[in-house]
Amino acid sequence: MTKPLLIGNWKMNGSLQLNQELLHRLIPKLQQLQKHIDIAVCPPSPYLFQVCDALACTGIVTGAQTVSEHASGAHTGEVSASMLSELKCRFVLVGHSERRLKYAESSAAVAAKFEAVQNAGMTPVLCVGETLEERESGQAAMVIEQQLQAVIDQVGLAGFEQAVVAYEPVWAIGTGEVAQASQIESVHQSIRAFLSSSAPSRKEDPSQRLRIVYGGSVNSSNAAEIFNLADVNGGLIGGASLKADEFIQISESLA
Ligand code: 13P
Repeated sequence: MTKPLLIGNWKMNGSLQLNQELLHRLIPKLQQLQKHIDIAVCPPSPYLFQVCDALACTGIVTGAQTVSEHASGAHTGEVSASMLSELKCRFVLVGHSERRLKYAESSAAVAAKFEAVQNAGMTPVLCVGETLEERESGQAAMVIEQQLQAVIDQVGLAGFEQAVVAYEPVWAIGTGEVAQASQIESVHQSIRAFLSSSAPSRKEDPSQRLRIVYGGSVNSSNAAEIFNLADVNGGLIGGASLKADEFIQISESLA
C-alpha cells in the first residue's frame, strides 16, 4: 500500500499574510513527517502561486480546489488544468460537495474535470458522498456508486490507477458531526468493492492500490480513531487545516 495522504482544503479562507503565517508554522513540522505520509494543501486559486512557491523543495505539495473541464477559451472566471499544472499543482479536488450542490456541478461535469486533471499530469481527488436525506432514505451506497460510475464512463476504470477518492458525507462537512466508525468503514469498503467488481480481471483492478481518504469534521481529537479504521488511507481536512496546531496534530495521528 502506498503512503497515507493528508490534504488540507482551505476552502475560501486566508489572505497573503495569514497564508504566510500558517505555512511558516506548518512547514518545519510537516517536513519531519514526510517519511510516513504525503501531505498537500489546497488554497484558493489566487494564492496558488504563493503557496506553490513557499512549498517548493519542501516535499509538501499544493493542490487546487477545483478546475475547469475545458482546455482554454471563453470560460470567464475558470482556470484550466494546464494552468494549475504549470504552477506545479500536484492534486486537484474534483466534485467536492460544495461544488456539486452550490454550483450545480453534475457527475458528468465532475468526470470531465477528472479527465482534464489527469491529462495535465496531475492527480484528481474525486470527492464522493451522500446528503443526510440520501442516507436516511437508504440511498447512500447507490449515490456514491453513481458518482464513481460517471468517472468510469468517462475515463474507464484505469483512471483510478492515478487518483484518490475522498469520502465526504455531506452532513458531516463543517457540522462537527463525524460519521460513525462503522459508517466510514462500510462506505470505504464498498467503494473498493464497487471498483473491484467493475474490473474485468485482478490485474486490471486498481482498487487495492487506491487511496481512499475520509473528510468531514476531522479534528485533532477524532483523527487517530478515524485513521485507524480499515480502508481509511488518510484525510481531507477543512476547518481544522486552517489552524497550524490542529493540522500538525492531525498529521501526527496519521504518521
Ligand atoms: P470540515 O473538515 O471543515 O468538516 O470540511 C471537510 C471538507 O469539506 C474538506 O474538503
